[in-house]
Amino acid sequence: MNPFAFTDEFEEVFAAWDGTVAAPSVENRKKNRIRVYKNSFVENVLATSHPALPGLWFGPFIAYGIYVAFTGWTGPLMGFGLIALGALGFTLIEYLLHRFPFHWHGGDKRRGRLRLFLMHGYHHQFPNDKTRLVAPPLMSWPLAAILIGLYWLLIPSVMWIAFAGTCAGYLFYDWAHYYTHHARNPRFWLGKVIRRSHAVHHYQLFHLNMGISSPLWDVVFGTFGWSKAAQRQAVKESRAVEKSQG
Ligand SMILES: [Zn+2]
Ligand SMILES: [Zn+2]
Repeated sequence: MNPFAFTDEFEEVFAAWDGTVAAPSVENRKKNRIRVYKNSFVENVLATSHPALPGLWFGPFIAYGIYVAFTGWTGPLMGFGLIALGALGFTLIEYLLHRFPFHWHGGDKRRGRLRLFLMHGYHHQFPNDKTRLVAPPLMSWPLAAILIGLYWLLIPSVMWIAFAGTCAGYLFYDWAHYYTHHARNPRFWLGKVIRRSHAVHHYQLFHLNMGISSPLWDVVFGTFGWSKAAQRQAVKESRAVEKSQG
């Protein structure tokens, strides 16, 4: 049997999806999540993730990069500069991935629609599904492998130091994203900004606020949406969805 076969529940939701990565449909607002794959290993291990798990997979790379920064030829000062650059690099990757492939139109054919739905459409239809909030291994591991290859080609002598920063940026992004969906009343300034700007992205202005861990690149590229009316409406809608799901 095909290990990536979809459940009937998924096929039903997917068939009803209008093909846009926008606010959840009225029907989907009632549910917190659906099961995507029939195969339990694919569903529970590869395609979903407990929010703490990325720390387990990428934490060792951070520890190793810091060790190399302290003991290698760069010295700690340059080492930490490289870690910061690696983290900044991740924030740009986060912005570009979310702005372009994650929000591109998938076309009318099943393949394109399916790719878009699995990549990001699902998250917009079920934004509070805790098991699909941080990137699952099916997504994060191939991306990590590509970046390691790229760093090895471009900056081989400091690749593990820069990669540690990229992993730290990634973990911050994943957990900030989790936070935006589950911290109902953030008390500090940055928490409020990222929670509201991401709610605006989910419920009001889907083509704006593509940065999740910070609005930095949205400000640079002019995609930051921060009108008071959009914020108010977005927070109201996200609260209503959270409430209807208990
Ligand atoms: Zn999005
Ligand atoms: Zn989100």
